[in-house]
Amino acid sequence: MFSRHDIKKLLQNSVHQLQGLKETYALLPSTRCRRKTNCCSMLPEMTLLEALAVIKRLVDMPSAMRMRFVQNIIGYFFLNPVEITLCPFLEGQDCLIYADRFFGCRAYGLWSQEYYEKLSAHDRLVKIHLRKQWKSLGLSLPSKVVDFQVPYCIYVEIDGHAFIDDKMLLNISDTIEAISGRFSQWHQSFSRMYFSDLSFLLSSLAFGLTESIQLKFTVVRDIITTGNMTGLEKIIDELPDLCAGLA
Ligand code: SF4
Repeated sequence: MFSRHDIKKLLQNSVHQLQGLKETYALLPSTRCRRKTNCCSMLPEMTLLEALAVIKRLVDMPSAMRMRFVQNIIGYFFLNPVEITLCPFLEGQDCLIYADRFFGCRAYGLWSQEYYEKLSAHDRLVKIHLRKQWKSLGLSLPSKVVDFQVPYCIYVEIDGHAFIDDKMLLNISDTIEAISGRFSQWHQSFSRMYFSDLSFLLSSLAFGLTESIQLKFTVVRDIITTGNMTGLEKIIDELPDLCAGLA
């Protein structure tokens, strides 16, 4: 389980890895999309290294702006079983961390339809599993959330004459995984215990790992059974500045 101290040390020791991440992202072609950010309805899965890149960005922000992001991200963590919220980094039609956006964001729209369908099928299985887990706790998640899928995108266009295919994308994804893997057990923990979810990581920094899950159950139960959001509002109002001092 990560503590603030662990994150601070990881950030201090990640200069070369973060540079490697940037260089690997640069292997992807630059793109444009006329439906800009229309698909940004979820926080994508990411590696630990990508999460650290964004935490670093949060650390470097003015505190009021950072707090707004932290509140959005924690709100996303608690609300995602009951609502399709927008990605916490989206404001209007702008991604506010565009230069550090995750591989999942960059690759969306570049996969072949065939490969994207495979990814979607896997995503559906994960959601079915999650629905069963919540059901075993006595809660039925809304179909609008369980059945939601980001559709295959036909609107992303590659600038110039660059070319990319699934094999190249998978190589880039493997490279990012390998660089992040240099954090060995931390990289594995982020994937296995936190499900590659930055919102879960930040929530656990605020409340603890098990406590975050318990709190999430209470918030989700209240929203599903009574529509009551006051528990969540209180959590958000009382959040500390989690990323302050992590530099
Ligand atoms: S990080 Fe940015 S590009 Fe990625 S889903 Fe969020 S808003 Fe969209």
